[in-house]
Amino acid sequence: VTRFRDFGEFSFIDRISQHGLARAEGVLCSVGDDCAVLDRGDGSVQLLTTDLLVEDVHFRRDACRAPGLGHKLLAVNLSDIAAMGGSPCDAVVSLAVPADLEVEFAEDVYRGMHACARKHCVNIVGGDTTRSPGPLVMGLTLTGTMPLEAVCYRSGARPGDTVYVSGAIGDSAAGLRLALQHEAETENGDRDYLLDRHHRPEPRVGLGQRLAATAAVTAMIDLSDGVASDLLHVCTQSGVHAVITEEAIPLSAAFRSYCAEVGVQATELALTGGEDYELLFAVRREETDRVEALSEQDGLPLLSRIGYVESGGPTIEIEDADGGRKPLEVSGFDHFRAGGV
Ligand SMILES: [Mg+2]
Repeated sequence: VTRFRDFGEFSFIDRISQHGLARAEGVLCSVGDDCAVLDRGDGSVQLLTTDLLVEDVHFRRDACRAPGLGHKLLAVNLSDIAAMGGSPCDAVVSLAVPADLEVEFAEDVYRGMHACARKHCVNIVGGDTTRSPGPLVMGLTLTGTMPLEAVCYRSGARPGDTVYVSGAIGDSAAGLRLALQHEAETENGDRDYLLDRHHRPEPRVGLGQRLAATAAVTAMIDLSDGVASDLLHVCTQSGVHAVITEEAIPLSAAFRSYCAEVGVQATELALTGGEDYELLFAVRREETDRVEALSEQDGLPLLSRIGYVESGGPTIEIEDADGGRKPLEVSGFDHFRAGGV
């Protein structure tokens, strides 16, 4: 008998992927990207993605606010649609609810989810509710659409491409650490910012669409497990090596001061902490000016060049200010090996 704790999430995905498809025609991508991609035969694709939030694995009921939980359940799926460059459409929601859960808590979850849905024009069109003998479990499945030729897979990065991330990295990891500390904190103006970045990530849907429309992006992924782990997915799918320039990693002032205060190495936490829900993408070298011009347009986050793609791999190195390189250790977040929150 092989137990999940010894086998791991990714080995399991590999094993179940071998069953193949009942109707392979029109399935452009099944397992291995942010969304499944289905050819609709009219020049467009349907995107399909799903995510689960499980109490005591992804969140603690006593360390989060219910509306934020609902927001996050939809936001993490929106982020997967954004990672392909698509427009979100419709969602179904499934809940497994412990009998002692306060109804008001579940209503607040939906309130946060619906606010996020209105903002992104997503219809919540159904789902399923059942009793849970254990933790609160919430699943959401989301569809999206986009032009077929604009889809940004993880697999297109080529040697010479420049690697970018949107926004600032690490805030969510710092926010999680703050959320799990129950003792009273020294009053810190940055605390609310970092907690908010953890509890209420803003999926980069508009940016993803703009990037896809440039046709200059060769590979894209959203940052759910951390830069180190997610960039390795791009390297693996694309068959390339990547180099991250240490000093180019965008860190917020709040994150820097948090790390200094608690004595944590900022770059390491930023690269290995998950749940940033920013976009990481590779761009052909000759198109970088055109892509960087996007960040100046209204409402789009900062775009930072954090490195470049070379042949070889799939591996990642980190380059310091003197040009010295060392391999980036990627632990690779695995749900069956990580402890959970
Ligand atoms: Mg993703």
